Amino acid sequence: MQQLAIFGGTFDPIHWGHLLIAETALHQVSVKQIIWVPSLNPPHKQTASFEHRLEMLKQATKDNPAFTVSLIEANRPGTSYAINTLIDLCAVYPNTRWYWIVGLDAFQTLPRWYRGHELAQMCDWLIAPRLLGGETIAQSELICKQVEQHLANQSVIIRWQLLHIPLVGVSSSLIRQLIHVRQSIRYLVAEPVRLYIAAHNLYSK
Ligand code: ATP
Repeated sequence: MQQLAIFGGTFDPIHWGHLLIAETALHQVSVKQIIWVPSLNPPHKQTASFEHRLEMLKQATKDNPAFTVSLIEANRPGTSYAINTLIDLCAVYPNTRWYWIVGLDAFQTLPRWYRGHELAQMCDWLIAPRLLGGETIAQSELICKQVEQHLANQSVIIRWQLLHIPLVGVSSSLIRQLIHVRQSIRYLVAEPVRLYIAAHNLYSK
């Protein structure tokens, strides 16, 4: 049975934190591919157009043969829900053990995701620790255990592990904010992404 990991997100824009997380996942659990899934229409977010986000994702991941960008959410109208993505990907890649890559902030909200209890048990969770309020790795682990316990109290048993990445404070919102105030984003995003943003004048208004 092959092992694949899904990395879903808005990627508005993709930044080097995302790339570091995906590369770490690839080696930490020896998955064959990382399937990047940009949300078409994420709940609770206003974003740059799907076409722009997709193009930046393609540009940033093109050098790594183990990275695949999936259009699975583009083919499904309406709000993008993670469980539908996994169900659709299961049909495309049968006989697969699935991993789902997620940042600590998003993982904390898993119990409230649409059909989150079902989804939680359909894959293994690879959690990227994230600087939210000055967390250390030990605190990130504690937060994950709390989520695990919360779900266990409702008879939902999950498998998870923390990704071994250095805590990085970069986020897409930081990048958008820097562009807005005309500061450099060099080295925070892959160079083709920086050039694409400049060429299309993204995030400046
Ligand atoms: P925004 O700042 O707009 O909310 P973001 O930087 O969180 O965006 P997303 O595309 O929403 O980027 O993130 C996709 C996934 O990657 C989410 O699960 C998010 O938690 C995770 N993630 C993004 N940046 C980091 C980071 N620096 N450390 C750990 N996880 C991250």
